[in-house]
Amino acid sequence: MVSHVAVIGLGVMGGALARNLARKGYHVVIYNRTHSKAENFLRHYGHEGKFTRASTLNDVLCKLPTTKIVFLMLSAGKAIDIVSDELVAEAHKRLEGDQLSIIDGGNSFYKDTMERCKRYDEKGVEFIGLGVSGGKEGALLGPSLMFGGSERGWEWTHEVLEKIAAKDFHGKPCVTRLGPNAAGHFVKMVHNGIEYAIMGMIAEIFNLLRATIGDRGLGISSDSLLEHPDLGGFLLELMRHVVRKRELGSGHPLVLDKIKDIAGHKGTGLWTCQSALELGCPIPSIQAAFEERAMSAQYAVRSVYSDAMKPSGLKTTVSAEGLMNRVYGALSLAIRQAFSQGLILIRVASKKYEWDIDVQQCTRVWEGGCIIRMPLLREFETRPKETLDKKTKGLIPAKEDPDEPPTADEITREVWWAFSPEFRKIAFDKKRHHQLQELIHTFVDAGIPCHVLSSTLNYVTQMCHERMETIPYIQAMRDGFGGHGFERIDLDGRYNLEWTIHAEE
Ligand code: NDP
Repeated sequence: MVSHVAVIGLGVMGGALARNLARKGYHVVIYNRTHSKAENFLRHYGHEGKFTRASTLNDVLCKLPTTKIVFLMLSAGKAIDIVSDELVAEAHKRLEGDQLSIIDGGNSFYKDTMERCKRYDEKGVEFIGLGVSGGKEGALLGPSLMFGGSERGWEWTHEVLEKIAAKDFHGKPCVTRLGPNAAGHFVKMVHNGIEYAIMGMIAEIFNLLRATIGDRGLGISSDSLLEHPDLGGFLLELMRHVVRKRELGSGHPLVLDKIKDIAGHKGTGLWTCQSALELGCPIPSIQAAFEERAMSAQYAVRSVYSDAMKPSGLKTTVSAEGLMNRVYGALSLAIRQAFSQGLILIRVASKKYEWDIDVQQCTRVWEGGCIIRMPLLREFETRPKETLDKKTKGLIPAKEDPDEPPTADEITREVWWAFSPEFRKIAFDKKRHHQLQELIHTFVDAGIPCHVLSSTLNYVTQMCHERMETIPYIQAMRDGFGGHGFERIDLDGRYNLEWTIHAEE
């Protein structure tokens, strides 16, 4: 039974997590590089539980019993290496037979985590990459936790993690060992990618609603979206608050109008997109949401475009009721497509890095505490892993070269089985696909951009065509200028055509 744990880094997340641990009865050893922050923390929250302030990293270790669990809640990057290296060096100097687990609870890049796990494993230390979602409130009241590390690391730490985690729809802790080394950080990274996509979709819809039905309709629309049986969840709940937020004292109708149109990002969205490109796995909804944020920084370019061709006024004639019906159908399909893209990416990476991540466990730990928690996650529960293993057996064909990894396409076919009939009924529904098409028409008529929803529509529409009719044009052009060759549907082998292309005289 672990009674003492340490938290290093008392910023937004670390401070809240330390309080969560103390409220659960742990004696928490706290340390922060800037000491005044730790003193301040004790002044404000010292009464909430048992805290002891350590003055150095060595002192952190001294204040812990032989089973040492240290949470690092630090900015991702160099800080993790600096602090972990020192902790491991101190542990080696003075502690024999102790168990040291270092839990990196930040948003570290998964390739860094893989390297760190290997490096510290050689020194007998369990290094755990723990995805933590839920923001400050989640860290305090119960976050969703995505564990990546060895079985031994799980054995040493799971009791503490289960105590502080949120609860799933059945009251079980929202934490599990998703796989070795960086499995947890990869899943957290993709979770953030899905979060980008859903936020982008919701923002586009509310922007359209505001332009068509006006400010007064926003509150009612957010209520109805939140209460719709196919929708709901934390982000729509948050949006309900956003559209009702008034600026104090000014009487200004919506605080939204006062917020600058520049969105930042801290790395996970970019890494999700980069990883997907590297792994040959399309995630257009997430890519579009990321690019939208990148475009938000291009205000000089926007000013040139808008001077030259500012879109003319609104032309849409759809009724408020008709519009809301399109929105329900389109959004319920689009959000599920974002989950589908993210989960396929997780599974593709899992095969490549031999993590064996069960996608159903990912969706289970997302049921509580995290930013993308929503009722639809229940739709993943009806596919137990055993059924999945049976159904998917043989879907990935054996290769002549046993080291050749399965393709993203082969893995995708396997992942479909993780999607229950309830999920598929909405994610692959013809009527909702049509409603998404109609909704995009409304955006186009109104001259309003819809990066994420239109990319999602294009993805779904493309996937509905078994033959990609544009690709033969591309292949022929590639052969024409570069002699790259192409395969034929009627003959085996690779072919080149004779090209005689003359520049016009
Ligand atoms: P903060 O910026 O609030 O805190 C960062 C902490 O890292 C501070 O305690 C800081 O110490 C410490 N630190 C930074 N560099 C060093 C260093 N070189 N050596 C020692 N300590 C260092 O960050 P957050 O709490 O918001 O985030 C922590 C991690 O959690 C990040 O990886 C973040 O991406 C992730 N995360 C954040 C979420 C959020 O909603 N904020 C949600 C989920 C994950 P000092 O006070 O001395 O500067």
